[in-house]
Amino acid sequence: MDKILPSSDDPLFSIFIIIVLVLLTSVVSYLMGSYKEERKKRSLESFLGKIDSCVFSLDMDKIPFEASLVSPLSSLASSLADRGEYQRSIGLYLHLIKHIGDFSKKEYLLESLGKTYLKAGFLQRSEMIFLEILHKHPRNSESLYYLEVVYELLGEYDKAKETLIPLKTLGVSALQLESNLNLLTLLKKRDISSSKKFNMLVEYLKTSDYSYRRVVQELFRLHTKRSWAFIDDTKAHLILDILWLLPTSNLNLDIISKSDILKSIYMARAILPLEESTVKSDIFVIDVMVSALKSGANEMDLSFSYLCKRCKQTSPISFNRCPQCYALDSLSIKENITKKQSPRGYSLL
Ligand SMILES: [Zn+2]
Repeated sequence: MDKILPSSDDPLFSIFIIIVLVLLTSVVSYLMGSYKEERKKRSLESFLGKIDSCVFSLDMDKIPFEASLVSPLSSLASSLADRGEYQRSIGLYLHLIKHIGDFSKKEYLLESLGKTYLKAGFLQRSEMIFLEILHKHPRNSESLYYLEVVYELLGEYDKAKETLIPLKTLGVSALQLESNLNLLTLLKKRDISSSKKFNMLVEYLKTSDYSYRRVVQELFRLHTKRSWAFIDDTKAHLILDILWLLPTSNLNLDIISKSDILKSIYMARAILPLEESTVKSDIFVIDVMVSALKSGANEMDLSFSYLCKRCKQTSPISFNRCPQCYALDSLSIKENITKKQSPRGYSLL
């Protein structure tokens, strides 16, 4: 053994000790690193498992915060919000935000929290979150946009208009938002007559800044019979559900009979008699129904659903703002031919 190891007074002995220490340190570091990685992995798995099986908003404080969990947990919070589990999503966002000090690292989490509060109907809390973000980062256009939505839903149209000024400065097109707020402000006014409102809406129809469907719907609500004079039959497909569900007593047959498109719609509805000549509406489902009626089929009706052209979500109820993504005037009508039921007792007005 003495021949293998250098003796303590040999200069090689010091070199030998240094080599042993370096090797020992490397092995210990490697083992510690592997242990930490394994611990993190197990911690994430166990945490996600717990979330799946408990109302985590009550258990969040018991779980240690780890920076490596921020990304998977923010994804989880987002999918919980998509599934309508707002309470759990909000609890998770709050947990992450509470433990992250640097604003730039948690700005996107605050935005998501503001949107989740909005979807869950906590409008004041949503407002507070977006104001907080804008206090720190005034050029955050996404937060400005959602703050506008919040004020719009709160009926605070003047405040909503204030958000458009910085949005325009940031280069965001606010024309659609501005038109929408003008329309909402007009409809809310109580100090002008419905006749004056009607005339102002007719003026809105002369510009493409306003949604045709929105304006016509309000015209029908204010004065159904007067509205017929302002119907553009080439845009009938945009209001097919409104026209289809109007009570018979609200129809203006003089105007309808002068338009092949409108005539076809009410022939399909079996209100006007079928004509020998081929009258086309260029609305596929209406032309199919008229042909079927001529072939002897009857007992047909139409049902409607509404697709958001932006997020592709479908709703059974008509909307001005998509209830999912809050896009404005993104609605597309989907018609289905159904079996006629007992007489309907509702309209969209
Ligand atoms: Zn949408």
